[in-house]
Amino acid sequence: MGSRKGVKLRPTIEREKLRDLVLTLRKDALSYNEIIRRVEAETGAKLRKSHVSEWLNGKHRPFGYVRNFDPTPIPELAYVIGVELGDASMSVGKKNYNYMIKLRVIDKEFAEEFSRCLSVILRRSPPRVKWHEKTRSWHTQLSSLLLTNFLRQGLKVLVPTISHCDDCKAAFLRGFFDSEAGMTGRVLRVSNGDRDLLVLVCNLLSSQSVETTGIHLSKKAGNLVLIKGRFYRQNLDQMYVYVRSRSLNTFREKVGFTIVRKKAALDAALRRED
Ligand SMILES: [Zn+2]
Repeated sequence: MGSRKGVKLRPTIEREKLRDLVLTLRKDALSYNEIIRRVEAETGAKLRKSHVSEWLNGKHRPFGYVRNFDPTPIPELAYVIGVELGDASMSVGKKNYNYMIKLRVIDKEFAEEFSRCLSVILRRSPPRVKWHEKTRSWHTQLSSLLLTNFLRQGLKVLVPTISHCDDCKAAFLRGFFDSEAGMTGRVLRVSNGDRDLLVLVCNLLSSQSVETTGIHLSKKAGNLVLIKGRFYRQNLDQMYVYVRSRSLNTFREKVGFTIVRKKAALDAALRRED
């Protein structure tokens, strides 16, 4: 057994958290010294190499190879950004020590595509896609500090990755439409609360020769809020973008859906046109 000095004094919960953090950092292929520096920067705790080595080589050693995240723009990364910016079903850890990237969706092929993209981005095997009976949805998730931090950056920082090339643009749009779009009859619509994001989506669609109607605003009745003893209904801004029906074919060609039921709805809309 190596020395446990320093760590021994810490409560178990903190030790567990530190160990998780070390394991997460290792998945991002950081060296022992880099891990020690990051842990100290994030938590103030100064670990010894022996602790790190013990945790990484002990019975909790969960991987046989090193994983890395390289933020080079590729369509798989653009797809994940599109899903992340678009969907409430995906969450990225917001708190300290939480570097989980999770997707919970009703369409299996959506979860599988997301998992495949994560595997390409992080050069690892795809995280499992599991059926969750209680919520009747497909779950996939993994932990990566570097990818989580990358996705946490604002839209502005992510734009160069999203608009890297036509393939990246299309992949971003597909991710966004997989998560946000609805198709009713011949009406293809995406909605979101972020105007800047929708402006970007309109510009990217236009760059792929897909015409939209621009951004429509509608007020949606929200929750009752209590202000100075009186209840008011809070109106939430919701914005919509419609793809022009004459552009549906181009949308299918250039962007398309991963989700089978959305793909089928789009095919049906286009058949109706013939
Ligand atoms: Zn690209």
